[in-house]
Amino acid sequence: MKESSQALEMEQKVRACTCKTCKALIKLIDDHHADLRFSVTRAGRLCELAVVASTGALGLPEYKVVKARRKYAEHHLGIKLTGPTSNSDKPVHIRHALNNSNHNPEAKNRINLGEAEATFSNNRFFLLPTKQPA
Ligand SMILES: [Zn+2]
Repeated sequence: MKESSQALEMEQKVRACTCKTCKALIKLIDDHHADLRFSVTRAGRLCELAVVASTGALGLPEYKVVKARRKYAEHHLGIKLTGPTSNSDKPVHIRHALNNSNHNPEAKNRINLGEAEATFSNNRFFLLPTKQPA
């Protein structure tokens, strides 16, 4: 199957799913206008941002991020993460999002998180909208 049709299939699966993580991912894209691309070969970023977003205001402890990303990708979406970035044994995707999103004009390899913003405090990562709905 072509990469583009695999990505489409992945997106349809996520959109049809009612679990907390998939719903958080779709909310990021549809409600907070994050520009996140579905990709099977580079799913690490999408999966890591999804698992952090799904923890909401509680945040995700740093040591749990990698395990959560792999579990979501492999056991939920059925995607095998490969490569040093996508399958990193460190929380590289959310760390990158802290300083390299659309909120920072100096960002490198920018991630467009829309109105959502990645933060880190008390050893926990958060991915929440900057503006709460009125
Ligand atoms: Zn799901």
